Amino acid sequence: MKTEAVLDDIRCRVEAGYPLLFLKTAEEDRWERELAELALEMERGLVTWTITCGLQPPVSGSDQDRPSALRLLADLTEYPDDHLFLVKDFHPWLTDPIVLRRLRDLLPELISRRKTLLFFGPVTTVPLDLAKDSVKIDLPLPDYEDLRDEFNGVMVEMREQHSTSLDLNADEEDRLIKAVMGLTAQEARKAWLRALRGRSELNDEVFTTLISEKRTLASGSDLLEFYDLEENVGDIGGLDQLKDWMSKRADAYSPRAREQGVPLPKGMLLLGVQGCGKSLTARATARLLSFPLMRLDIAALLGAQRGESEKNMRNVLALVESIAPAVLWLDEIEKGFAGVEGDTGGAADATMLRLVGTFLTWMAEISKPIFVVATANSVENLPPEMLRRGRFDELFFVDLPNFEERKHILGIHLSKRGWKTEQFDLDDLARRSDGFSGAELEQIVVTALIDAFGNGRVLSQEELERAWRTTVPLSVTMEDKIFALRNWAQDRCRRATSDSRVTAMLEAEQRNDATRLPVDEDQFVPLPPWAQLANAGQLKAGIVEFIRTEGDVLFPQIQEAMEPYMDIKGDQGLAARSNPNTVLWAGMSQPLCELLCELVSSKRIYIHPTDIERYKSIQKGLRLSILKEPTDEKLLRASWLPSSLRTAPHPVHSARLSRIGRMKLGGS
Ligand code: ATP
Repeated sequence: MKTEAVLDDIRCRVEAGYPLLFLKTAEEDRWERELAELALEMERGLVTWTITCGLQPPVSGSDQDRPSALRLLADLTEYPDDHLFLVKDFHPWLTDPIVLRRLRDLLPELISRRKTLLFFGPVTTVPLDLAKDSVKIDLPLPDYEDLRDEFNGVMVEMREQHSTSLDLNADEEDRLIKAVMGLTAQEARKAWLRALRGRSELNDEVFTTLISEKRTLASGSDLLEFYDLEENVGDIGGLDQLKDWMSKRADAYSPRAREQGVPLPKGMLLLGVQGCGKSLTARATARLLSFPLMRLDIAALLGAQRGESEKNMRNVLALVESIAPAVLWLDEIEKGFAGVEGDTGGAADATMLRLVGTFLTWMAEISKPIFVVATANSVENLPPEMLRRGRFDELFFVDLPNFEERKHILGIHLSKRGWKTEQFDLDDLARRSDGFSGAELEQIVVTALIDAFGNGRVLSQEELERAWRTTVPLSVTMEDKIFALRNWAQDRCRRATSDSRVTAMLEAEQRNDATRLPVDEDQFVPLPPWAQLANAGQLKAGIVEFIRTEGDVLFPQIQEAMEPYMDIKGDQGLAARSNPNTVLWAGMSQPLCELLCELVSSKRIYIHPTDIERYKSIQKGLRLSILKEPTDEKLLRASWLPSSLRTAPHPVHSARLSRIGRMKLGGS
């Protein structure tokens, strides 16, 4: 509730003759000022009482040297009608039966003489005996407008003292105010003074300093963990689509977006392979938005005693709202909410279902700026409600990094540790580390650094290669899981990464942009020849040129390359005409199959049997029995001959594989 609305409520109740109001606040100064103004507006006298100073202003003739609760109750009758009594920290005396009796005796007089006692402090317990005649009101923390006034005051003060030369625009002011929402006005003042003093310009550090002040707010709950914002979007290698999407969402929190009715973003679900940067993205998102990041411990939430979980969930969500704006991070939700769809059907499942329901309803209804980032490594056990369209703004699939991304990630982790990336052949390392996750690439850098240091050497390419050799990527042991996850995500999630070759091209363009003098458009960096051909509609020539450039290409790599220019996925496959159960590849579109058939039969490209390991390294494959080489034997069942495409014929098998045909088979 806003400060103005609460003051209105108090005014109405005082005017209606309520004799006792219990006002709960930890912000004594601000609310005392607000209530003093209210008394003035209502033309009522205001008297304050504390156990140390008694009633102020004192009533004449009263002994103010020994203030006590009973003295207060005796003296307040001496004051004229139409008075408000601001009684601070009175709760210890409300357990005294004599004080309670005296208070109740006083009620008719208080009502008839329009006097109201405002019990005021951080603790409010309304005794049962007084419940009927009193109202309890939680005095809210300062709202945005209150903080704006405070902020203006702080800026005027600092400018007068020449302790800042900041020249802020509306968006910057807005971010500075939002960064402290959830703090008391006094805490906010102190935080601004500390963060802005001596500054001539704003940077990220200002916001992280301000946000870290909110740490104490989350400390009231065992279920919320507050994270310092150390990583930013620049620390994420690759994931360009996801980063682009996030930046757009960050803009949606600006005052301009509010004015234009842009809805507040709700959040995103990141599904994907372990160690590929989902948690990193959650942390960087908070920094991008300049919101505090709080991780909700779902396991602890569910571990609570029967009946407690829902109450805990409601409390924790209320706490998050009080800290808003904020990023709420639900990590590994498939573990936290495991069993919702399980077949046990027990009480635990029912609780979890209700919890998921409570959470989703809260997410749908929340009007405060809270951005939820949920991360998951698998879809089994994941409540289907969570995946339904409209719950999250977007579901992203975060895959193993592609070549360009691996290079980027290696570069990030070397630079982070102070190494110049130009000294290393990252192309080579990235090429070798196909199937490695971001975390594993970081591990290569870390291991190499430790080894080099331990051996008294300077970090070199050899050290990195040695570390690469000793690292076994998880994708080798988890191949089936990753494969299944990728399949599941294919039509349901947006990819966090755009096509690798397109990325490479964009990056090349950007590099050129940075070094290029402003010249006319005609000199724009060209696409590689194969892409220029494909872009111009010369798909066949584009495919041949691509295979010629790359030398030896797997079918999925052709699909990936051609994706921007044509439909590449579908239910069609290719098989050898000489032995139709020899399947070469599947999961392609009809036009792509037809182009490839034509190119093979016109001998512009050739099929070569290849090592299955190459397909494994790019996490692709067909669920069929494997043929090592083409055979003349009659095959009873469809079998997969892992093959690649080149522009030169195979020395042995070219005759058997010179004619291929289109066939229909399930997905790849
Ligand atoms: P998990 O599901 O196992 O928690 P995750 O997808 O959340 O995995 P992170 O915890 O974000 O992965 O990754 C671990 C670490 O690996 C990160 O802190 C970061 O240092 C590094 N890392 C992973 N992916 C990337 C990336 N795309 N760019 C830069 N670093 C990365």
